Amino acid sequence: MPTEQTGYDPSLGRKFVFVTGGVMSGLGKGITAASTGRLLANAGFDVTAVKIDPYLNVDAGTMNPFQHGEVYVLKDGGEVDLDLGNYERFLDIDMTFDHNVTTGKVYREVIEKERAGDYLGRTVQIIPHITDDIKRRIREAAEGSDVCIVEVGGTVGDIEGMPYLEALRQFAHEEDDDDILFTHVTLVPYSKNGEQKTKPTQHSVKELRSIGLQPDILVGRCEDPLEEETREKIALFCDVPTGAVFSNPDVEDIYRVPLVVEDEGLDEYVMDHLGLAGEALPEGQRDTTWRETVTRESEGEVEVALVGKYGLEDAYISIHESLKHAGLEKRVDVDRQWVHSEDLADGHDGQLDGVDGVVIPGGFGSRGTEGKVEAIRYCREQDVPLLGLCLGFQLSVVEFARNVLGLEGAHSAELDEDTPHPVIDLLPEQKETEDMGGTMRLGAHETDLQAGTLARELYGASTCTERHRHRYEVNPEYIPDLEAAGMVFSGTSGNRMEVLELPDHPYFLGTQFHPEFRSRPTRASPPFVGFLDAIVTAEQPARVGGDD
Ligand code: GLN
Repeated sequence: MPTEQTGYDPSLGRKFVFVTGGVMSGLGKGITAASTGRLLANAGFDVTAVKIDPYLNVDAGTMNPFQHGEVYVLKDGGEVDLDLGNYERFLDIDMTFDHNVTTGKVYREVIEKERAGDYLGRTVQIIPHITDDIKRRIREAAEGSDVCIVEVGGTVGDIEGMPYLEALRQFAHEEDDDDILFTHVTLVPYSKNGEQKTKPTQHSVKELRSIGLQPDILVGRCEDPLEEETREKIALFCDVPTGAVFSNPDVEDIYRVPLVVEDEGLDEYVMDHLGLAGEALPEGQRDTTWRETVTRESEGEVEVALVGKYGLEDAYISIHESLKHAGLEKRVDVDRQWVHSEDLADGHDGQLDGVDGVVIPGGFGSRGTEGKVEAIRYCREQDVPLLGLCLGFQLSVVEFARNVLGLEGAHSAELDEDTPHPVIDLLPEQKETEDMGGTMRLGAHETDLQAGTLARELYGASTCTERHRHRYEVNPEYIPDLEAAGMVFSGTSGNRMEVLELPDHPYFLGTQFHPEFRSRPTRASPPFVGFLDAIVTAEQPARVGGDD
């Protein structure tokens, strides 16, 4: 039995589930993959994941959130694709930078080795040198786990993805058949007359087979579950048993996907194929925490405004998810409103009227910052709960310096180089930094939480360890004045300010770190729980469980 007590029987070999996608991107391939992993974890296995991003960037750190969505930060400081956030949330694990394989990383390593003379005399080629490096990375990331889910980003047929698919083909040859499973996720659209169409799936499997890969399982993304006839047709044309064709229909909430695919029997099929059926916990003993958590009935609704500048839901995905997690814990639905910070610059214009709480997310550059400062002022003056994250924390200091301390023109040196009062200034160790990639203060750092403060109460501990991604911090020169005027720095790391709060306010909390990266559906993040708690307390009994 693969429990922690006895460990996984190594003679079974490490298992790999390779997940590819066809027809188009954005099908929720990662969610299907993460859901498969969740079910295997529920059955007692140690599951990890690798996300392959075939782009040439070394990491996601230099990418614009407006185009690519949020940059997710790992505990080791890796700046990675937001899909890794989904894996961490679904599997409740902490991944490392090695779990995100990019073309930039692979080629950089191979070229550096070539320069160092490691391949002396040989021609360095995609096959075998690049493919070998890809395989090595997958094997290393899988170490210590029973099952490793490997998702190949993009769609089969993309030029950039070719070396990866070739590497997987070789990989499958090198391992035992029952250690490898290929899952292919495709789109099954409806025709005008309401028929589920299988041709796109057929074509995409044909493409896959032309490069030597035969899927073991096909998952069809469709508005509704696949009809029996559709499944039979896919099975026939794609050369898999009908029982290997699963549907992944639209659901109201991604956290329900594991429940849907479990009802379809995907987990049992995967375990059978990988020879794990006899090793899994018997049904009655499996972990049901996920199902219980995500199906919790809510008892009311609260409205939260997210004041940001990247008008794309994915740019703030971890914050959205963290609000959801806290909502699951507090049993409230969180209606998240997007408010464009640039629209708030000349006064809040009524856009925040009636919202129950405001979140100011992280960000870079000056666009939209005055609107965020206005939103913070509104929350401070009107006693509206506020959660400021990273840049949101920094701008809370700016707002307080300007409007409470009366320091005209106070700003962050990042946003106004000529400010007479740089209340937020460059971290001293950043002064010599020139490269933009991977050079911020990144990853998990411990924060001391001062006794008698809200932060200490929320975390229920004297320290917390959260993830960071910043170049600027509160300028130590201004701390005595800020404190004298009533701002409390309740979390510190050495002489670095990490958490601020205003004691006479229902909830005014800012964190230099990003608590959203450690929030999980089954373990909501304390600053988010506290935020909703303050809203629910203020609202009772009027809105929550109340009149509407
Ligand atoms: N731009 C700010 C800094 O670099 C805040 C960063 C963030 O919000 N992640 O310190």
